[in-house]
Amino acid sequence: MNNRQIADTFETIADLLQIKGEIIHRVMAYRNAADAIRELPRDINAIYADGQLQQIPNIGATLAEKIEELITTGELEFFNRLAAEVPVTLVDVLKVEGVGPKKAKKFWDELGITTLEQLQEAAAKGELQKLSGMGKKSEDRILAGIESLSRRTDRISIGIAMPLALDFLNELLKLPQVKKGHVAGSLRRFRETIGDLDLLVASDDPDPIMEAFIHHQSVERVLGHGPSKSSIETFQGPQVDLKVIPPERYGTALVYFTGSKQHNVRLREMAQNIGLTLNEHAFTNLETGEETLCATEEEVYAVLGLPYIPPEIREDRGELEAAQQNNLPDLIQLSDIKADLHMHTTWSDGSFSIREMAEAAKARGLSYIVITDHSQSLGIANGLTPERLLEQQAEVRKVDAEMGPDFRVFHGTEMDIRADGTLDFPDEVLEKLDVVIASIHVAQKQDKDQITQRALNAIRNPHVDIIGHPRGQLLPDREPTQLDMDAVFEAAAEHNTALEINANPRRLDLDAAYARRAQELGIKLVINTDAHHPENFELISYGIGTARRGWVEAQNVLNTWDADQFLDWIANR
Ligand SMILES: [Zn+2]
Ligand SMILES: [Zn+2]
Repeated sequence: MNNRQIADTFETIADLLQIKGEIIHRVMAYRNAADAIRELPRDINAIYADGQLQQIPNIGATLAEKIEELITTGELEFFNRLAAEVPVTLVDVLKVEGVGPKKAKKFWDELGITTLEQLQEAAAKGELQKLSGMGKKSEDRILAGIESLSRRTDRISIGIAMPLALDFLNELLKLPQVKKGHVAGSLRRFRETIGDLDLLVASDDPDPIMEAFIHHQSVERVLGHGPSKSSIETFQGPQVDLKVIPPERYGTALVYFTGSKQHNVRLREMAQNIGLTLNEHAFTNLETGEETLCATEEEVYAVLGLPYIPPEIREDRGELEAAQQNNLPDLIQLSDIKADLHMHTTWSDGSFSIREMAEAAKARGLSYIVITDHSQSLGIANGLTPERLLEQQAEVRKVDAEMGPDFRVFHGTEMDIRADGTLDFPDEVLEKLDVVIASIHVAQKQDKDQITQRALNAIRNPHVDIIGHPRGQLLPDREPTQLDMDAVFEAAAEHNTALEINANPRRLDLDAAYARRAQELGIKLVINTDAHHPENFELISYGIGTARRGWVEAQNVLNTWDADQFLDWIANR
């Protein structure tokens, strides 16, 4: 059993004891123990092996015995006896706002309710309001609580979370009391899906900031309102937490609330090695109790003798070792991007003309684009026949000439890889194009061998330059295809075929882990928006965030190169 499992067991025991009506200090003993175990900077199994369980805060002889039993047998007699008395599923009922242990016990005793579903059913049928001490209002509140619970536990796509978080943050940054502010949590690290949103601002005057926060237009309900922390629920679903930090302690707080947990555990270990503890407030000298405050994240890392580590790679996946050796990757930045190689126009399923897409890309500061409409077999997307493709080429050449020498428009395709593995255009058509992307859009449920063979057929074709959104995932719910990525990487490396990081936040495909692996194998990457509308060009930031999470450096991304270098690669690969 690991730290988290043991902490969860103690937390559940606390809940069950509370429903049973145990005295509060017995309940709190388990809750405090759970918190202490969750915060431990070391594996609890190792602490047990060293005979040091009772040195953990809040752990006395009795609890140490219970931890020992869990570690050695994987079970706890006391927990089993408790679970036989009180159904463990009642713990979920306690998570509903407005349901405390007394009510949970009442619902169980009088209506036999032991699960969240049963509670929802009973509330919907109006059974709760008939109980003594309950009424229509409290029943409605419980129903609303169940609904918001189901909305909150759903993770949302970064494409929804980021604009929402930035909307809150930008409003707060306008306040004169706010010195600086950040989106924190997994959103700052560019995780693809997000639970709650975390915001952090630096100020000595929190009250007007909290006031403005809880009155933001997106607030549906205020869950908590205090001087250093407030929580609200938005109409869009996610919960947003705001913490106001004194400016001189902002650095430690920002590192702490950005995470990841694993990264922070390692930082605390490194602090301990030099006689310090580290928490969200400060470093503290273990002997003298003297605090070292950090206003910036740079100062936090400097105390540990490390260079600044960018948030996207704070996952304890080698970044601390790299930092110690002064060998951190030089991560790609938005300003490195010179081109977008994948977009659609009114020729297939896009909403704007070639000229309009070119103008919009130029206005964003790009220096070249590739027009890549769908191919003939994708009927629903109005895919192009070879005849229409050649007609389109004439228009692309015309727009390219009109745009002048500083902005180039190239002609390509996003060609379908058909269900039977053949390509949607013959070689004599492909050789007329400047750039060829091949993508899988149909028959995504095929078994591993079949779908992998399709991808390999495309990679091995000398005219195919790029594989678009290789794994076919759609966030948050459509799983990627069964594609054998080892085989895809091997073939892409052998045939010098580039792989796409599709920046659309519903795709983010390749994801960070695969992008990192591809780069390690020497495979070239491209980061494209797959724009169907000029506004979609903005989505590039999600592709950059994903690439940075994957340790990707600019020189390995083809669309950071200038047009001549890019064309040279296409011609010679
Ligand atoms: Zn596509
Ligand atoms: Zn596309």
